[in-house]
Amino acid sequence: MSQKLFYNSKESSMIEKCSFAATEISKLEVMNPSTVATAVSNLGSLKVSRLLITDQSGKIIYDNEAPKENQEKYALFPEIVQALGWNNVFSWNYNNGTMQSRAATPIVSYGILIGCVYMMEYDTQQGALVQSLQVNTLYITFVLEIAVIIFSLIFSHTYSGRLKRISSSMRTIREGDYSHTVDMGGNDELTLLGEEFNDLVVRLQTSEQKRRNFVSDASHELKTPLASIKLLSDSILQNDMDIATIREFVGDIGNEAERLNRMSQKLLSLSRIESQEDSDCEIIYMGPTVERVMRMLSRIANRNCITIVADLKDDCPILVLEDDLYQIVFNLVENGIKYNVPGGKLFITLRRDEDNAIMEVRDTGVGIPEDALEHVFERFFRVDKARSRKSGGSGLGLSIVRNMVERNQGEIQVTSVVGKGSIFTLKFPAFDTEESV
Ligand code: ADP
Repeated sequence: MSQKLFYNSKESSMIEKCSFAATEISKLEVMNPSTVATAVSNLGSLKVSRLLITDQSGKIIYDNEAPKENQEKYALFPEIVQALGWNNVFSWNYNNGTMQSRAATPIVSYGILIGCVYMMEYDTQQGALVQSLQVNTLYITFVLEIAVIIFSLIFSHTYSGRLKRISSSMRTIREGDYSHTVDMGGNDELTLLGEEFNDLVVRLQTSEQKRRNFVSDASHELKTPLASIKLLSDSILQNDMDIATIREFVGDIGNEAERLNRMSQKLLSLSRIESQEDSDCEIIYMGPTVERVMRMLSRIANRNCITIVADLKDDCPILVLEDDLYQIVFNLVENGIKYNVPGGKLFITLRRDEDNAIMEVRDTGVGIPEDALEHVFERFFRVDKARSRKSGGSGLGLSIVRNMVERNQGEIQVTSVVGKGSIFTLKFPAFDTEESV
């Protein structure tokens, strides 16, 4: 039986006993020590440790513990005080291995309160049960506390160990070892942190690899014209040359210097694109920019006997950085001239395809082999190094084009047939559609 159930039944049995005694006493005509004592003895065995009968002021009329001594004294126990306020009262407490249960009820005769019955019982069996419960609870609490402490120690040790692992990996990466990854184990937030960290490391590796490739490509490209300049100037200094040869050599030095200049300009332009320095986009038509580029390159086109045919009628506005657009068109048209054949043609067409503005630059030149098509937009890539160098190429033009196109939300594609020519198709979102306005 649970503690609560036990006390519910205890309460009702004690209140019942009190009420029974109170009813019997209320039948007395006169309530004095001897009549009450007789009435109590007629009640039979109530099996209580203490029985008190008081009058309506709390004065003891009967006390089974000390019938004579306590008479005329006042028993103002809390239960008695409450019972004299017309209440049935029950209370219990545990003390030193013993349960004490107390109950009190008013004695009412003809609707008038004339006293109260108070009973108290000692229960050592229940007391022992409560005591063993207390000991057990204490024991369980102690074991639980120890378990919690041990668990916390193990948990914090493992947790801090994993945190140390990730912070030592960070140190390793900071010292430049980008191949280092971390295995956090488990399946919690720290595991996610470890995965994010490894992701970051992979990105660092890629960008570090790109940086190294760029530095090595760039220094390789810069080395060639510098070596030519050194060779030419040494030749002038060491050999006895006539003035005409010296002029020719100095002219070559000038060309190489010019090539270096162009290359450094393009490298600067590439790094500017990557650092996203510019951002003032404008709504412009492509036609005027194409015309400006054609004017700029007409002399070279004439020199190479290339005819430029432009159809710019179907033009529409786009949102771009004007300088970027100029550079993109310039590089594509310049390539169309450079990699053309004498007497060749270059067609520049503007057209509109649904929500896009399309520019096509088609030449009748040497074309690009199929396996090279996917590389033409890479830095320093050249199909024919000698031809590119002779025409002042650096292998950076198309890489600049692609970066600029992408940062202006455009797309570029190339198709080509060797010996027939190439088509570069540029696509930008038109800026006069309903969504864009
Ligand atoms: P480059 O400064 O060498 O012209 P680009 O990046 O502009 O560098 O072009 C890369 C390479 O792609 C060129 O070297 C050339 O081999 C090839 N290429 C680019 N445009 C054309 C074209 N219109 N026709 C044929 N080949 C081209």
